[in-house]
Amino acid sequence: MSVRVRFAPSPTGRLHVGNIYVALNNWLFARQRGGSFLLRLDDTDIERSTAAFAAGIETDLGWLGLTWDVFARQTERLATYDAAAVRLKASGRLYPCYETAEELALKRKIQLGQGRPPVYDRAALKLSADERAALERDGYQPHWRFKLESRRVEWRDLVRGDEHIDTASQSDPVLIRADGTYLYTLPSVVDDIELGVTHVIRGNDHVTNTATQIQIFEALGSKAPGFAHLPLLVDAAGEGLSKRLGSLSISDLRAQGLEPMALNAYLAHIGTGDPVVPVRHLEELVASHDLAKFGKSSPRFDPAELLHLNARLLHLLPFEEARAHLAGVGLAEVDAALWDVARANVEKIEEVAEWHRICRGTIAPTLADLSFGQAAADVLPPEPWDDGTWKNWTDAVKNATGRKGKDLFMPLRLALTGLDHGPELRLLLPLIGREKTLRRLRGESA
Ligand code: GLU
Repeated sequence: MSVRVRFAPSPTGRLHVGNIYVALNNWLFARQRGGSFLLRLDDTDIERSTAAFAAGIETDLGWLGLTWDVFARQTERLATYDAAAVRLKASGRLYPCYETAEELALKRKIQLGQGRPPVYDRAALKLSADERAALERDGYQPHWRFKLESRRVEWRDLVRGDEHIDTASQSDPVLIRADGTYLYTLPSVVDDIELGVTHVIRGNDHVTNTATQIQIFEALGSKAPGFAHLPLLVDAAGEGLSKRLGSLSISDLRAQGLEPMALNAYLAHIGTGDPVVPVRHLEELVASHDLAKFGKSSPRFDPAELLHLNARLLHLLPFEEARAHLAGVGLAEVDAALWDVARANVEKIEEVAEWHRICRGTIAPTLADLSFGQAAADVLPPEPWDDGTWKNWTDAVKNATGRKGKDLFMPLRLALTGLDHGPELRLLLPLIGREKTLRRLRGESA
């Protein structure tokens, strides 16, 4: 049986790094096994789901290269859920309940007061057909609960190892609300069955759903798929990322000019124990992917580490690969020579703009000592220049002025670039050219 996994976001918000961490692990798992990756939009919450969020999910995954082989949208599959619900009702596993939220809250309070676990007491199962009919005549619409088998449900989790949940300690979960809409639990199982999902790889916030879902698979006559529950990402302080999701949305990271492969490489490595290294193509992450490398402890997501990886990735990026991205950030004029000099000095690609301006545009005068500038200008060699020109020139300036070391180099760097740091001047000088160099040494804007 060929492997099929799914990424199943709800289009009720923007994707964030935690979602992509789950999506990427699914994608890599599928690719490693020659399997397929399903993108499923869990959009049954019609009040909170929007077309814009759905489109955003596709844009974000597309940007990261996490292509999907199959696409499904739950709101287009409601008839399938209805058919499954009919079967579960017929077998007595789905039963109608009429308690109001207030009644349920009161029951829980009483149970807790008596020191008992607040598990639903199945009172609705004791209603006769006449009592149910009377309630419905009085305007009560039923919600529907799944009748759990009271037993220990076990599974071998591909991340967490042997797991079990005793469903005797759980309330029968509501699968269908009184207004007829589905909660996530049943549609997810029906889709996993009908769309041939072999492995459910998701965040460990879903561990508690797993026993219920395994029982629903079985109640529908299917074998449960494999499960893998990834530890959720935390921030540097060890807190869940949820509070800061705004700043870690994929659309924001894209807008900040981050390389998609920096994010992919970072998210593929954190939590595995492998060193975080720059990787240029998704395919290079496939071979080493292994869910068993994850433990139960939460990987730390550190934006500073991501930025650092982005910088390391840019250093490796050949011009041919950088060209389209440069054009995308308005830097189509940057050529290979400039890219090769600038790429080691930027954390984000858009920062190349500064080196483009310094080499090809105009900077304000920064020369403090005009007589030193003039002395340096007087011995500036004629073009053509290459990366040996800097040495020859600065030797001549040293002879002419008696300056050396920092006193020699820093004023020249400042005069030529306006900055006290940056790429090696022997590489920059030929890009700046003689005319601009002369004018900058005379303290002019050039
Ligand atoms: N829509 C669910 C979520 O985003 C999917 C959970 C699952 O993968 O089963 O949490």
